[in-house]
Amino acid sequence: MQRDSDTADALIAADWVLTGASRLGTCAPDASPAAGGALGIIEHGAVAAHQGRIVWVGPESDLAQSVDLAGVPDSARLDAGGHAVLPGFVDSHTHFIFAGDRAEEFQLRHAGVSYEEIAERGGGILNTVRATRAADAETLLALGRSRLRSFAAHGTTTVEGKTGYGLDMATEARCLAIMDALAAEPGLPHIIPTFLGAHTLPPEYRGSTEGRARYVASICDEMLPAFAGKARFCDVFCERTAFTVDETRRILARAQALGYQLKLHANQLGATGGAELAAEFGAVSADHLDFASDNDLRALAAAGVTATLLPGCSFSLAMAYPQWQRFREAGLHLALATDYNPGTSYCENMQIMLALAVNAMHATLEEALLAATLGGARALGMQDEVGSLEPGKRCDLLVLTGADERELAYHFGVNLVERTVIGSIPSAKPISLPE
Ligand SMILES: [Zn+2]
Repeated sequence: MQRDSDTADALIAADWVLTGASRLGTCAPDASPAAGGALGIIEHGAVAAHQGRIVWVGPESDLAQSVDLAGVPDSARLDAGGHAVLPGFVDSHTHFIFAGDRAEEFQLRHAGVSYEEIAERGGGILNTVRATRAADAETLLALGRSRLRSFAAHGTTTVEGKTGYGLDMATEARCLAIMDALAAEPGLPHIIPTFLGAHTLPPEYRGSTEGRARYVASICDEMLPAFAGKARFCDVFCERTAFTVDETRRILARAQALGYQLKLHANQLGATGGAELAAEFGAVSADHLDFASDNDLRALAAAGVTATLLPGCSFSLAMAYPQWQRFREAGLHLALATDYNPGTSYCENMQIMLALAVNAMHATLEEALLAATLGGARALGMQDEVGSLEPGKRCDLLVLTGADERELAYHFGVNLVERTVIGSIPSAKPISLPE
């Protein structure tokens, strides 16, 4: 009798449970003694959660003796139907708040006009800036919501979102307010807001060095102080067509002093010194890195900066892909993200990024999946919150359409995610985009 009451006392309280998984890829080899391999796979694994957090992970055969299932209503029991289950994707680099599209420029680029040339003609980012400034808050909110539902439908449960299509106080503030409003809507991915006022020089400041200096000053003296506490990260596009190393250093120093965590668009189109700056400032992540040298990669690894790889850009810009092996050999923590944006990677589907990572960058599927989940979490400083299926983390997961996660990257161009769960709540169904 004593033994029975001990066992009863030890049962873990839960209000949500997943069973029926063929393979549960925890992305955490220590999640359970039953987890094996780089992905911490539990054959016939189950998950229990309480108030949106995972409280137990293990083989389904151990579930009833570990978790108090009496407290789980029928409506909160999810049967994976013999399909594989993984943590939700953490997309640590997106620009999902904008209006308009750039389909015409995309065609021009592929007809031989360079991205930089289009930018110099006032196209590129500025095209989206015009459309975003002209859009009212209601339109931007509806666009953001539709896009987030589509992210979720493809398996993403956490989305970093950057401003940077406003480039003035009012529009940047509006974009942050929209992300804040969307963050409160249930069934949508978690949103991590980033201030990217230093995305490109706004048109009204162009044409003189004095104008450049005034815009950098407006970022440092007006926008950064106003958005402290509203945006978690500050990011800068450090590139020939955007901001110089000196300008970037000034912005990062000010942001750091105001309590922002740092990210950097670095070495995407050339060896511009961004990667060195990311290491110097101890940024949480350095993103792109197509033109990072071996020294840059070593410096980033030594500084503990996560390298975020964005193969959707290489794909859309028809550029060579950075090779995974270089980053692996540098001992870097790696994240894989979409860089969802209307110019250079108009794709919210992390499964496509997995396919590109494996087929074009020569990652193993395990490496790519870890970079798309726990790596993305690390690129947001959230590795204790999301990115793997283990007790204490948010109950964010996806159920695939098939029994084996190894179909990912192999069977590409279709949606292999059957359903997504965010904080124990099934994600909202996609809706069509507003015109
Ligand atoms: Zn970007």
